[in-house]
Amino acid sequence: MHDETAVLHFGFPSGQESTRATSVPIYQTVAHDFESAAHAGAIFDMEIPGFHYNRLNNPTNSVLEDRMAELERGTSALTVASGTAAMSYAVLNVASAGCNIVSTPHLYGGTYTYFAHVLPTFGVDVRLGENASPEAIAKHVDANTRAIFCESIGNPAGDVTDLDGLAQVAREHGVPLIVDNTVPTPFMLKPILHGADVVIHSLTKFIGGHGTTLGGCIIDGGSFDWMAHGGRFPMFSEPDDAFHGVTFGEAYPRDAFVVRARSVCLRNTGATLAPFNAFLILQGLETLPVRLERHEKNARRLAEYLAQDDRVEWVSFAGLPDDLNRPMARRYLGDHVPSIITFGPRGGYDAAIAFHDSVQLFKRLVNLGDARSLVSHSASTTHRQLSPSELRDVGIRPETIRLSVGLEHIEDLLEDVDQALTLSQAVVSVAGQ
Ligand code: PLP
Repeated sequence: MHDETAVLHFGFPSGQESTRATSVPIYQTVAHDFESAAHAGAIFDMEIPGFHYNRLNNPTNSVLEDRMAELERGTSALTVASGTAAMSYAVLNVASAGCNIVSTPHLYGGTYTYFAHVLPTFGVDVRLGENASPEAIAKHVDANTRAIFCESIGNPAGDVTDLDGLAQVAREHGVPLIVDNTVPTPFMLKPILHGADVVIHSLTKFIGGHGTTLGGCIIDGGSFDWMAHGGRFPMFSEPDDAFHGVTFGEAYPRDAFVVRARSVCLRNTGATLAPFNAFLILQGLETLPVRLERHEKNARRLAEYLAQDDRVEWVSFAGLPDDLNRPMARRYLGDHVPSIITFGPRGGYDAAIAFHDSVQLFKRLVNLGDARSLVSHSASTTHRQLSPSELRDVGIRPETIRLSVGLEHIEDLLEDVDQALTLSQAVVSVAGQ
């Protein structure tokens, strides 16, 4: 099945439903009826497939999980309530007090805050490379490292990570590579094919695609040999008291990561994706490939427009021929690029705020990947908690404006940007008088 077909059919073949429903139904139920105590026991012990209590799994969510695993070429997947839950479960599944995680520096603001200020309170140290190169990351890996983490494309900096290089470092040190693949989606990039062991997503963005629903997902690459690296990962290589003594690496060699994330992290902390939200995200996923084409076409036109405009100081968009990220984008994304543009209007911070406050069609909000076009000023919003030096580290300047380019008619978008740029320059000329 090609990916364009899988988003519509995978995991829900005709006849699966007794009613022969064609859309995946919303199983709005908390629990499922057992045939007997023996049947219940077999499901609880995961000896047979089945559902028991919907904090752990649900038939609607299961279809979304199967589709995400298929699209990412993983072995299985777990859906959760948000991308943040996916990120924190992926880390907590391997890290414990006294250990460290090594990460690339260009991160979504919430991930940065979790790494810099929350994980350390649990005794987990997070070390950020001074850049995302394999050499810069390798320098921080030691015997206490439990994972290398990166965003395949940093939000908002838009830099494309050298996944093959990081996977090589991870392999050499016997730790898994965890990749947040939210920005490109599996239609542009499949990190598992570049050596990632675990992929996570905020489904809230392009995949849901309509700005209606929060969701997250963890996909197991099935490639990491937990038993062979048991010294570092006793939670996989030794019987786990948190789940009646199962040795996850031995019992589930193909998908131990996701099985443990479900049975230990999700089961005990409960950031479950509601089945109605899974249904809405499935609707988004069905049209993702066609939406991405239009997103990209609009973004290319808009980036070209900004790049030749005197009112603009700089533009970062990996689709521009001389963009810094172009060579890495060509290597990992082929002919495609996500529809996220960052730029700085001439006149710095004040001009950026004036641009942001002047748009009429673009929505001023902190999401991305919506069908509508969105604008945000990163230093005032998603990355507001970061100090000036932290902002520099994650690749954000005071004047950085992020555009998530939507599906509207391009002429309407260009007109809106044009009038907002004019107003941004009025601030500059008043300041210069
Ligand atoms: N990862 C990336 C790259 C993001 O951009 C975001 C949110 O903007 C998240 C994770 C967090 O996702 P959520 O808002 O669904 O918790």
